[in-house]
Amino acid sequence: MRSTVALEQLLLPAECLLCHGLLGGGGGDADRIVCPVCRHRWRPVRPPWCERCGQPEPHFGPCRLCATWPAALQVVRSAVWLTAGAREAVHALKYRGLPRIADDLAAVMARPAPAGDEPSVLVPIPLAARRLRQRGYNQSEWLAAALGRRWQLPVRSDLLSRVRETATQTALTPETRLANVAGAFATRNAEVGTRNSSAFRVPTSGLILVDDVFTTGATLAEAARALEQAGAQRVYGVTFGRAVIPDFT
Ligand SMILES: [Zn+2]
Ligand SMILES: [Zn+2]
Repeated sequence: MRSTVALEQLLLPAECLLCHGLLGGGGGDADRIVCPVCRHRWRPVRPPWCERCGQPEPHFGPCRLCATWPAALQVVRSAVWLTAGAREAVHALKYRGLPRIADDLAAVMARPAPAGDEPSVLVPIPLAARRLRQRGYNQSEWLAAALGRRWQLPVRSDLLSRVRETATQTALTPETRLANVAGAFATRNAEVGTRNSSAFRVPTSGLILVDDVFTTGATLAEAARALEQAGAQRVYGVTFGRAVIPDFT
């Protein structure tokens, strides 16, 4: 009987998942399902940026985006701007159910880990139970698994749970988005254990939250808040895409 991976390879044509151009399959690209032309369309997020949230610096004054983040959330970085090509890639990750695209996305996220040399654990942003049932998988978990292979870091999907799903409301300001996700996450088993209990312990090493898209950082901030309340001291975040907020700066 064929494994799932073998079956997936059998079903996949040798063409780019995004533009349907033929894949060469040469060099180190044998496992890629997004062609170099499409990957070239992804625009990297580059400095100068706010050292904490990775957003381009505002024209004047302190960064407003990360001002209300919980203290534990220290550094967040995104790989590429969510322009047309990257948006298609995220859409493919979320809706086409092909785990291998996570490797293509993780490849551009795998520049130095935000936690540096610190021993770290990857924590995917969870979906609420109902959405997980609908989709059948959590795309952030796939990204975390692909990053974990590159960074040789463990993935802990059991630390966080999503108590409620929040509507995607890209039009909201950073402040209202924070209110929108307030209380959306809980540390799993929090009801049977606390920071001092043997029943539940948040690792003392750095925790790296993994998500597909950063819009205002509200989701990462809220997840970090739940981890902080459970005793986490250093939380980092990494996403594949970063939405352009036209009226932010
Ligand atoms: Zn392509
Ligand atoms: Zn900032």
